[in-house]
Amino acid sequence: MAATILDGKGLAQRIRTGLATEAAALVAGGVQPGLAVVLVGQDPASQVYVRSKTRACAEVGFRAFDYHLDAATTEADLLDLVARLNADAAVDGILVQLPLPPGIDSRRILLAIDPAKDVDGFHPDNLGRLLMGEPRFVPCTPFGIMKLIAEAGTQLAGAHAVVIGRSNIVGKPVAVLLTAADATVTLCHSKTRDLPAIIRSADVVVAAIGRAEFVRGAWINDGATVIDVGMNRSPAGKLVGDVEFSAAAARAGAITPVPGGVGPMTIAMLLANTLESTRRRARR
Ligand code: NAP
Repeated sequence: MAATILDGKGLAQRIRTGLATEAAALVAGGVQPGLAVVLVGQDPASQVYVRSKTRACAEVGFRAFDYHLDAATTEADLLDLVARLNADAAVDGILVQLPLPPGIDSRRILLAIDPAKDVDGFHPDNLGRLLMGEPRFVPCTPFGIMKLIAEAGTQLAGAHAVVIGRSNIVGKPVAVLLTAADATVTLCHSKTRDLPAIIRSADVVVAAIGRAEFVRGAWINDGATVIDVGMNRSPAGKLVGDVEFSAAAARAGAITPVPGGVGPMTIAMLLANTLESTRRRARR
């Protein structure tokens, strides 16, 4: 049976339509959600991400405060900007696009962001709250992944979920969220022994590795839900995920495509976190 293709683009669009309606109601009450997006340097991929984030803001009626700083910007300059954004009442969310140029310690920048405006959810305070089951902001990509799994109708309680990749921004938070949803989680990485055997026993596979088509279709359990986070260029220059899509789709119950799966959901959840921040700040 062919897998259901999980349409992240369509789901993200539905979420954004809902957010636009909520934003319009807030604007009518005199409060406009505002997201500050800070880019340092000329990294081409970062420029694309930042453009899509600011465009998405405009589409749902948020204000986007776009800071494009020179690659020669110092850590002190960036800390100064973050302090100003922390204090700016019109800014509900602050996003500093990573990676930062060498010479700027991204951990220091991350720690300087007010956790109440950390809509990426990367601040240790927010990651700690997530770990304790009391999230303030769920990091955007893991948040989107959980929405896609829900969209697939996958029962997580008691399911074996295999996460491949243990980064702080994807793999680890996804493992925490899946555990909170009562899945039994195996978190794999480059030192994991016999990855194919582990994946063969998975009801849910989340691949966040960064290696083109690394997860072979033959490793996928019949009927499994497969979430492909990877964004890689194939030798032919095509955007591909971490999973061998066609072969995996022949076995999976549901699978996300690349592009059009996790990527659009990440941006939708960034907007959702920003709106949540606006609401909280408006209540205060
Ligand atoms: P990362 O920080 O580079 O982490 C990669 C992880 O993969 C590491 O934990 C690494 O293990 C593991 N790994 C590497 N080779 C492996 C192997 N042979 N077997 C098993 N595990 C292996 O990457 P990331 O930031 O999490 O991103 C992962 C991918 O997702 C990238 O393609 C990135 O572009 C994409 N991404 C997409 C979105 C989106 O919105 N669609 C968002 C974020 C990231 P070790 O820890 O042992 O090194």
